[in-house]
Amino acid sequence: MPRTLVPRLEIKSLTKIYDNTKVVDAVSLSVLPGQITCLLGPSGCGKSTTLRMIAGVEPQSSGEVWVDGQMISGHGFSEPPEKRYIGLIFQDFALFPHMTVWQNVAFGITKTSDDIKEKANELLSKVGLTSKCDKFPHELSGGEQQRVALVRALAPRPRIMLMDEPFSGLDKRLRDDIRDETIDILKSEATAVLLVTHEPEEAMKMADEIALMRDGGIVQKGAPYNLYNAPVDREAVAFFSDANIIKSTVNGALANSQFGQFFAPGLSEGASVEIVIRPQHVRIDFDRDGKGPLPTVSMGIPARGCVERARFLGNESLIEFKMDFDNSIFKVTIPSVFLPKLGQPLWLTIPRDRCFVFAA
Ligand code: ADP
Repeated sequence: MPRTLVPRLEIKSLTKIYDNTKVVDAVSLSVLPGQITCLLGPSGCGKSTTLRMIAGVEPQSSGEVWVDGQMISGHGFSEPPEKRYIGLIFQDFALFPHMTVWQNVAFGITKTSDDIKEKANELLSKVGLTSKCDKFPHELSGGEQQRVALVRALAPRPRIMLMDEPFSGLDKRLRDDIRDETIDILKSEATAVLLVTHEPEEAMKMADEIALMRDGGIVQKGAPYNLYNAPVDREAVAFFSDANIIKSTVNGALANSQFGQFFAPGLSEGASVEIVIRPQHVRIDFDRDGKGPLPTVSMGIPARGCVERARFLGNESLIEFKMDFDNSIFKVTIPSVFLPKLGQPLWLTIPRDRCFVFAA
């Protein structure tokens, strides 16, 4: 029989009530050794509170925290934070300004912990900071300070690492480098990581699994690919990218629109629905004497719009159309330079396999 892996971290129905409001509402998830899970969601949805309860610095109102198959918090029992063997990294790296790199890293390591010192030295060398051991934090770049924080958190070999927006203080290029380096190290140490971020791009880049949070609860959990390509609702689509919305009603399991009919499986007859399409999935065709491309099975019926705005954004061009059929604005992106004239008529088609139909 195949052995099932015991999650390194498991939280069961973790709930926090502040002033009669559930700011974290029955959140459950598990993280395996070497796995990076991202708690992704807008500001105020309860991500940090979840992390603080796991760390043990905030008591939960109810629910349980398990580490390696043992309950460390729940039903009135609570292991103190220092006994949870959980590493923490926050946005402000919180290095001690009056201590050198080595003193910062060694802080809290007792004299007898030679193996931890050895580990700290190994990690400092891994991140290229061995020669900076005697420097003070103000003598280091932001990226170096972040690396010191990582080494300090990892030296005691925590089983779990909790990271709260750890890279948001760094500029973009540096952030990409440090992020990759951090992933490599965390994976090589087989640490289970729960990372909080409000940036979908960061979650997509780092996570093995994303838990999408909203209003204190998890609305969807899965691999980044699944969240992007099989979102549960309109908000889940819109969290990862812009979205065009077409309102419709269900007629014979199909949602009618000016772009043709779209499958509306599982939605009841006559129900109001929204057809949701990302700007990068809309196709643009030129106007030929007032006509667009011929309708096809996969692309449906073309609809005409006139260019309202066109901007080049670096990686792509964003064109906004005012649609002939109802004057609504439709956003389309093209991964190259495409800057049609204002007012130019163009035809848009929507691939059936790229759009989502949700109950409104
Ligand atoms: P996020 O990390 O997703 O931005 P937080 O977990 O920090 O969200 O906060 C979730 C909600 O809980 C917010 O509405 C916040 O105002 C509220 N909250 C957080 N800490 C406290 C507290 N100590 N007392 C009362 N409300 C709090």
